Amino acid sequence: MSNNIGVYNEVSRRDFIKTCLTATAMLGLPYGMVNKVIAAAESSNKPPVIWLHFQECTGCSESLLRSSHPTVASLILDTISLDYQETLMAGSGEQAEQSMHDSMAANKGKYILVVEGAIPTKDNGIYCKVGGKTGLDSLRSVSEDSAAIISIGTCAAYGGIQSVEPNPTGAVGVRDIIKNKTIINIPGCPPNPYTFLSTILYYLTFKKFPELDTLGRPMFAYGRKIHEHCERRPHFDAGRFAEAYGDDGHAQGHCLYKLGCKGPVTYANCPVQRFNDVGVWPVSVGHPCIGCTEPDILFKTSIAEKVQIHDPTPFDAYAPIDIGKKGKGPNALTTAIVGLAAGAALGAGAMMAKNLPASIENKDKQTNEKSKQA
Ligand code: SF4
Repeated sequence: MSNNIGVYNEVSRRDFIKTCLTATAMLGLPYGMVNKVIAAAESSNKPPVIWLHFQECTGCSESLLRSSHPTVASLILDTISLDYQETLMAGSGEQAEQSMHDSMAANKGKYILVVEGAIPTKDNGIYCKVGGKTGLDSLRSVSEDSAAIISIGTCAAYGGIQSVEPNPTGAVGVRDIIKNKTIINIPGCPPNPYTFLSTILYYLTFKKFPELDTLGRPMFAYGRKIHEHCERRPHFDAGRFAEAYGDDGHAQGHCLYKLGCKGPVTYANCPVQRFNDVGVWPVSVGHPCIGCTEPDILFKTSIAEKVQIHDPTPFDAYAPIDIGKKGKGPNALTTAIVGLAAGAALGAGAMMAKNLPASIENKDKQTNEKSKQA
């Protein structure tokens, strides 16, 4: 076992491998790649990370670090070298500032800048100041020599609630300010910790970031609509809806579309990679999806407002023979088959992680034994 992983006593070797298996499945990588992902997670070559907070509630950090099961948080902290993070660091004031500048100087062009929160731009950004500098100045100066930027959460990605009209501070997302860097958006309010962990593991494994969509989001996590994997989808297709909170339909787990669910127009993996390690997500507990990963929905459309479904996509579990009727011709069929494969892969990955295959555990034990003997 790597010393780094061992620092967190709560994380057993078994849990560590299970988490890597889940991340491998989430990334859509073949099962055989899990050993490469494990090796990358254990590598001592940790990317330096500077993590800046601007206009936000710190919910993204909280969600990452306060997961009910410690493995994900521990792995995140163990796979990166977190050189500056205002919420977590023990130091403060000049000492903290110095450590950030030391890291930037020592890791020029190599460090990853993680941004949490929107950036106010009105009146030269005076509405958010840390260490005597505006968020705008800090973002520009720290991004200058970074290798890439990860905008974590909807505020850093698109401006979030701070940017809602009348937007008194002129809040925007990182991509509205920085134009000359690779920027990975991991939106969500909050995003799933596994999405962040998997992005980092992908970077460690392949020395590059995963494929992004037009909004800068990793395709592995934001490539499909919520509606395609939702467990209430059979009710939607059968026309069974909750009409009001607490009515019979709601109590029986019917579709939440009429309560304003934004799942049909929201790209995210919530129904597949759920939250809190106990398999829940908003829709599973009776709340409509609020579209928190989309730039124009969260806080900009009322929760009760029904979305227009312009581009219907099939449920991932339908057999292809049904899809031609429900979808929109040949493209829908292709989409559905891909969806079926993606859903099956993720589901299989989750099951593999739950029932950790003996072959992986044995192989891992043998590797560890050999390294101990050497
Ligand atoms: Fe699920 Fe919402 Fe789609 Fe209904 S409308 S199936 S609750 S995602």
